[in-house]
Amino acid sequence: MSLRELTILGCGSQQHTRDRNHNAYLLRWKTEGFLFDPGEATQRQFIFAKIAPTAVTRIFVSHFHGDHCLGLGAMILRLNLDKVPQPIHIYYPESGKRYFDNLRYSSIYTQTITIVEHPVKVSKEMTLVDETEEFLIYGSLLNHGIDCIGWRIQEKDTRKCIKEKLKEKGVHGPMVKELLDKGVVVTEHGRVDLDDVSYVKPGDSVAVVIDTLKCAQAVELARDVKLLLIESTYLDSEKELAENYKHMTATQAAQIASEAGAKKMVMTHFSARYSEEEVFELEARHHFTESYAAKDLRTFTF
Ligand SMILES: [Zn+2]
Ligand SMILES: [Zn+2]
Repeated sequence: MSLRELTILGCGSQQHTRDRNHNAYLLRWKTEGFLFDPGEATQRQFIFAKIAPTAVTRIFVSHFHGDHCLGLGAMILRLNLDKVPQPIHIYYPESGKRYFDNLRYSSIYTQTITIVEHPVKVSKEMTLVDETEEFLIYGSLLNHGIDCIGWRIQEKDTRKCIKEKLKEKGVHGPMVKELLDKGVVVTEHGRVDLDDVSYVKPGDSVAVVIDTLKCAQAVELARDVKLLLIESTYLDSEKELAENYKHMTATQAAQIASEAGAKKMVMTHFSARYSEEEVFELEARHHFTESYAAKDLRTFTF
């Protein structure tokens, strides 16, 4: 199976702590390296994670609060220094164009790489933002007081051939390609339809819901996902603070995962007031068993 791994480069919120960097999450899946919310010092976290920044193919900025974007300029410089051959796609809320430009052009350098900007017009309807050969990328406006986008990365359905059936029906060599292209092929056994020897494997999905109050859009983004990366800035004991600052508690994050039918939830964006991440797992598991707390440099597979 191809690589399917989420690496937590930072799981802090507004303030760094000794053990938590600002946000930054790298989702490596098939040929893509999706980097979400590169907060300050993301570039350095790649070194600690022993991952080459050249793995990055697409960067997503949910919103322009500093803990989600201050590392963007440095990441662009780094990719430039490494002369990455692939174009780097960057998605961000359209209304933050000014901040994007400030970050992109924050220092002197000669651009050697191709950057494809995707200023995203946000609405509370989940909308298709981009489509690649392998994935559909959706976005939806969250509820954080400013434009802030939640993402859903959906793998496209793929057709899988069943070896034994191909053999049984006498389909081999270039005939396989012909069958895949045309949907039908004639062998010494007669006509063979694609459905006779193959099946459609539905694609998996991952959602990223960071910086928001509990909202219906979060549930929609996370519907049946294999992995939900979600903010849980506070515990339920501080739910008034969460409400005031437009964030969520571990309980609320777990309720979203449960309502959405997610398979696994990873909580992040922890307030500096908590020194242990485990307290989030303890609280969330009352509502959703497959709850895990992020930790800097921890990886999750799905
Ligand atoms: Zn934040
Ligand atoms: Zn924020």
